[in-house]
Amino acid sequence: MRRCVHRNPNFEPGTLTISLTEDQKKKYRKQLAMPGMTTDCQARLMKARILILGASETAFVCADHLMRLGAGHLELAGASHYDLHLLAERLDALHPAPADTHVGVSEQTFDAHDSEQLITSFDVVVDGLSDWQLKLVASDACMHLSKPLVHVGGEGFRYQLYTMRPGRSACLRCVFPRIGIDDFPKTPDEDALFPPVQGVLGSLQAIEAAKLAANFGASQGNELFKFDFLSGEMEMITGLDSVSDCPDCRKPRR
Ligand SMILES: [Zn+2]
Repeated sequence: MRRCVHRNPNFEPGTLTISLTEDQKKKYRKQLAMPGMTTDCQARLMKARILILGASETAFVCADHLMRLGAGHLELAGASHYDLHLLAERLDALHPAPADTHVGVSEQTFDAHDSEQLITSFDVVVDGLSDWQLKLVASDACMHLSKPLVHVGGEGFRYQLYTMRPGRSACLRCVFPRIGIDDFPKTPDEDALFPPVQGVLGSLQAIEAAKLAANFGASQGNELFKFDFLSGEMEMITGLDSVSDCPDCRKPRR
């Protein structure tokens, strides 16, 4: 059962094409003027199905930006129903109907048993989860189903951004040791919040998710970006290719 916050009149699940109305061309004219963005890209974005896992502030910022861009369908999942509905209500307040984005709240639990059933119908998955075990569950399921995963993880002022593309990328289980995370870090303190940090991270996730959904720009899939917002240091780690002897990321299973 899903709670539908918005209904996009042009969104018809399963349809292959969608055309922009004159009003939509006008509404999105500024992003359509960006290099690489075309009406075809916008149309793909407007029929994309994007799953946002978690009810974190990062997830909220990402969802907000994707709605501003006109993404077709956002599904919120991977947190308590109370938190997911709260997130949906915040989005609803910022994007009053009629909106181009259909927002749904999944009543399905997200765990190792049910994750693939939830993920299978989506084009892109955004990791706004706090729990590291659930992040690994998302990685496993996305690898198995060959779905791109836009991961953000970390705590305090130190975070990483990694766009995992099955067939090109190492899975999260392989990536963490390679970036110096040998043991699962503690789950971040959800009461600790520095909104500009979550704003940057959610915005970066929205850019990556939009690029993947609209098929423009580049997401190499083997690069990870580390940020220390306190010191101002940033680092890009390259070469995070799929690992030949890993059962999860050595190659897409389908
Ligand atoms: Zn792997």
